[in-house]
Amino acid sequence: MLPPELRTATEALAEVDHLLVALDFDGTLAPFVGRPEDARALPGSAEALARLGGGDAPGSGPRTTTALLSGRHLESLRLVASPPEEVLLVGSHGAERYSPETGDEPLTLSGAQEALLAEVTAALRGVSEAFAGARLEHKPSGVVLHVRQCSPADGEAALARARTALAGERDVHVTEGKAVLEAAVVRVDKGVGLDWLRSVSGAGTVVFAGDDVTDEHAFSTLRPGDLGVKVGDGETSAAFRVGSLEDVTEFLNLLASVRTL
Ligand SMILES: [Mg+2]
Repeated sequence: MLPPELRTATEALAEVDHLLVALDFDGTLAPFVGRPEDARALPGSAEALARLGGGDAPGSGPRTTTALLSGRHLESLRLVASPPEEVLLVGSHGAERYSPETGDEPLTLSGAQEALLAEVTAALRGVSEAFAGARLEHKPSGVVLHVRQCSPADGEAALARARTALAGERDVHVTEGKAVLEAAVVRVDKGVGLDWLRSVSGAGTVVFAGDDVTDEHAFSTLRPGDLGVKVGDGETSAAFRVGSLEDVTEFLNLLASVRTL
């Protein structure tokens, strides 16, 4: 069930000329699963997103631009989300970008950043090898320690050891999410990613939905008239909140119907 105020605010978006709908993937469109590569969007959410992005009349400018804004490596995001070509993509929290016009904008690291990445990878490999169930994910921008498959006590201990291991690294940007710690050698966050999506799409109004602490950077860039939806519990600066991924499906269906009237 959507909160009535969210329903009203969504219906008001019918009037907007060009709307950007940017969505987090894991925990927003797709339920969390043990192996990140097995995550898939709820079918209803994927269909609503396709309807939102595919509704433009031929020859007219875009009325609704759709985008995915994820912490995942772009390649991994494509694998799990199978996005249609028109969907803008931001991966690695903003470090990797794709638009149909520009194609992929991959990340290139300086020599110093490459050396730092090797150092950080070695440090976190030591942590992951010490705890059963912990695993590393490698991205162009950094390395991620996943502890979702550890026991709760091991997960906490692994994250604590990782924090300690990285404490002295001045140029490493540590971001923590749900059962995950990311050490990046470039400074990006989802606010940077959403700003890029806003500018490349040319949309005047933005919708963003996300479930994690890393999504707060994106919520904080929203302007009057934009609409932010936090999924699940936790502090947020988003104006609206829904309780579940099924609610996200309902929200996207409502948005798709008001935008394609
Ligand atoms: Mg998420």
